[in-house]
Amino acid sequence: MTRSLRAKLVFIMLLLIVILMTVVTVFLTRGVRDFYLDEFYRRMTDAFTGTEMVSALRDAANEPDAAEMMEKIIVAYAGQLGIDSGTRKFYILDGKTGSRLAGAEIPRGETLAVTPNIETALGGDDAYSGSSGGEYMDAAAPISGDAGRFIVYIRDNRETATTLSAQLFRMILEAVAFGLAAAVAISLLLSRTLLSPVQGMTEAAEAMAEGDFSRKIPVESEDEIGTLSRTFNTMASQLEATLFELTQAEQLRRDFVANVSHELRTPLTSVRTYAETIADTPDLPDETREEFLRVILNESDRMTKIVSDLLDLSRLDSGKGLDFDVFSIEKSVRDVYDAIRPIVEKRGQSIDIELHWGMPDIRGDKARIEQVLMNIMTNAMKYTPEGGAILISCGVAGKNVWVKIADTGVGIPEDDLPHVFDRFYRVDKARSRESGGTGLGLSIAKEIIERHGGIITVTSEIGRGSAFTVSLPIAGTDA
Ligand code: ADP
Repeated sequence: MTRSLRAKLVFIMLLLIVILMTVVTVFLTRGVRDFYLDEFYRRMTDAFTGTEMVSALRDAANEPDAAEMMEKIIVAYAGQLGIDSGTRKFYILDGKTGSRLAGAEIPRGETLAVTPNIETALGGDDAYSGSSGGEYMDAAAPISGDAGRFIVYIRDNRETATTLSAQLFRMILEAVAFGLAAAVAISLLLSRTLLSPVQGMTEAAEAMAEGDFSRKIPVESEDEIGTLSRTFNTMASQLEATLFELTQAEQLRRDFVANVSHELRTPLTSVRTYAETIADTPDLPDETREEFLRVILNESDRMTKIVSDLLDLSRLDSGKGLDFDVFSIEKSVRDVYDAIRPIVEKRGQSIDIELHWGMPDIRGDKARIEQVLMNIMTNAMKYTPEGGAILISCGVAGKNVWVKIADTGVGIPEDDLPHVFDRFYRVDKARSRESGGTGLGLSIAKEIIERHGGIITVTSEIGRGSAFTVSLPIAGTDA
């Protein structure tokens, strides 16, 4: 690609130079010729109209040696007529026959051709005209006197113009040669400047095709190439980011599938083991049999819980499952509190509520929000030992209402804090299992709160307790 583009550039430059120089040559040579022609006829017209030279010639025409005298007069005015250069000659001709009487010699064996201008002068008129295409320029002026009729004839063979043109042409040729060399050099340089970023882009694109997005093209200019390089780099970064997100999402999906399989396999294994034991041991004591059956029932319940939690999540993931309406968050907090209080107290823990009167309503799915509150309160209860305390408080902050559920329980290690909202994440697996947890509760809570445009946060200190805060936009605000 590079090679062919470079060749094209060089070719275009050469073509341009050749065209330009051809045009210049044509105009210059034609200009020189026309200038020379115009100059000749202007000079002749000036010289032969009412000048001293003409009166002198007329006087001479009255003398017996008229032709010789006229020759002398013309020689005297040679400078003015431009006949001292060798390429321009003059003749004194007989005014009736056109034959030479004096002036320049005619080479032996040749005759002076009767040109249209001589013809006109023979008829008695001045003649200073000619075409630019001819091989010569001439002017003929008839002079009459007592000694007869004469014609002063001046003829130029155009050699000066031709020589000048040839010299010009040679100079132009030299300039063309130089121009061509310069054009090749410039176009090679230009092609390098233009093509090296393109080359860079090609290499970067090739690297990208192989999955390497780190290659960036240096942006060296502010022109179109610079813009293209910058756009290319932006595109590469965006692609890289998208690919990274996709990879991460794919990893999450894999982890999730692995987790689900694992979570279901554990209870299934227990169920199978206990069921087998019961089936294979007919003389199993009734007490043991009953205990085993209870385990089987418990594990089945766990599996049902996991499956229903997963269904919940998948419904939320697919954007379904929420039923929005305006409702009082204050009432919801109180309802959940009332529902859980007897259970908490039965476990030997205390639970208190600090209600902020006149809390604004929120817009959302009431049942789902209550599910979240219940989940957090249940966790607070589960992870707080006997004698511990749970405190529920709420309030308004800007365009949001917040509900905080704090406990004096086991707390969550700092390293685990960022993960408690991850699916299947449990700080203490055995403890969570024991209390019937699935590790999905908080991830479902987070999903629900975020779908409401709110946030859920946690602070905790190991051994001292945890506090979960849910913050939700007040109904009618655009938060
Ligand atoms: P689980 O069903 O195991 O309770 P969650 O998603 O509700 O799952 O909670 C995730 C993990 O976060 C729990 O296993 C527990 O380790 C930790 N956790 C949640 N709430 C509390 C709390 N109030 N105090 C201490 N640890 C908690």
